[in-house]
Amino acid sequence: FATVGLLATGSLAACGDNSGGDDQAGSGQTPKIGVILPDSKSSARWEGADRKFLEEAFKAANVEYDIQNAQGDKTQFQTIADQMITSGVTVLMIVNLDSGTGKAVLDKAKSQGVATIDYDRLTLGGSAEYYVSFDNVAVGKLQGEGLVKCLTDKGVKNPSIAYLNGSPTDNNATLFKSGYDSVLKPKFDSKEYTKAADDSVPDWDNAQAATIFEQQLTKTGGKIDGVLAANDGLGNAAISILKKNGLNGRVPVTGQDATPEGLQNILAGDQCMTVYKAVKQEAKAASDLAIGLAKGERKETGQTVKDPEGGRDVPSVLLNPKAISKENVKDVIDDGYVTKDEVCTEA
Ligand code: BGC
Repeated sequence: FATVGLLATGSLAACGDNSGGDDQAGSGQTPKIGVILPDSKSSARWEGADRKFLEEAFKAANVEYDIQNAQGDKTQFQTIADQMITSGVTVLMIVNLDSGTGKAVLDKAKSQGVATIDYDRLTLGGSAEYYVSFDNVAVGKLQGEGLVKCLTDKGVKNPSIAYLNGSPTDNNATLFKSGYDSVLKPKFDSKEYTKAADDSVPDWDNAQAATIFEQQLTKTGGKIDGVLAANDGLGNAAISILKKNGLNGRVPVTGQDATPEGLQNILAGDQCMTVYKAVKQEAKAASDLAIGLAKGERKETGQTVKDPEGGRDVPSVLLNPKAISKENVKDVIDDGYVTKDEVCTEA
């Protein structure tokens, strides 16, 4: 694998498409589980991995399901939720677009006797029975540590760092930042590193991320030595601007989600690392809990997360993320998350 020479030119279209619209399948018996995904642009994971692995888990359990995508539209998100409740879902799983609209959906479902799960993103002040995600502070820590390693390997002294944070309305973005801050802030404080820029990207919008990064580069007079980008999409946006300026490969950029594009950028030497989150496990854990809820069972998760708004202890499943750099891209392929063909083209 390491000898693969030529790489595909990072287009998402090349990374396979297993979406295929809204799905309804199963045995025709209860329970029925509704899932609302957030969008298909902020990360390739939602349509590329989550939909597929959730379908697999529901099919294996022989339950009826309906997975829809709100395409970043909060009104659409609420409309889908209403339709699902009307159509008689027993459990509703959501990836909120922000906590306010997420909470409205969760509360409404609850008032109609529909059990709910926060999938991947915690809805602050919400009422979900469970929260299923990864240890997102650990995700950020891996990003911070990965960036430090890449800068050390390159021998960069007193590097200037730019932050491209995730959406300010996504609680995960806050957790990722607290993770990478725990690694980088001590370095800023001791003046070993300099923080050159720190911006959040609304809705994780990749196009806006490129504009924001271009402004960061201009503002600093081109003096950016490392980019803490919160996911592969934002990382790719930064890389596209670095390329325009002939700086790609010289300035390490982080990421998250082990998307085909992110992995291609890593193999090409343009991206320092990504964080692999085994979505298959996340989907399976959420599906197991959903099926339990549909049967009126309340499974123990052995762990809770405190909702910072309201202080509720939410029963949670938090899985472990893994750092991926050039050396172990193969692990993501071996785990069945992406195929070799999606990541590489033969030399
Ligand atoms: C998810 C990330 C994803 C981001 C943008 C976050 O809530 O945890 O995996 O990259 O949203 O969709």
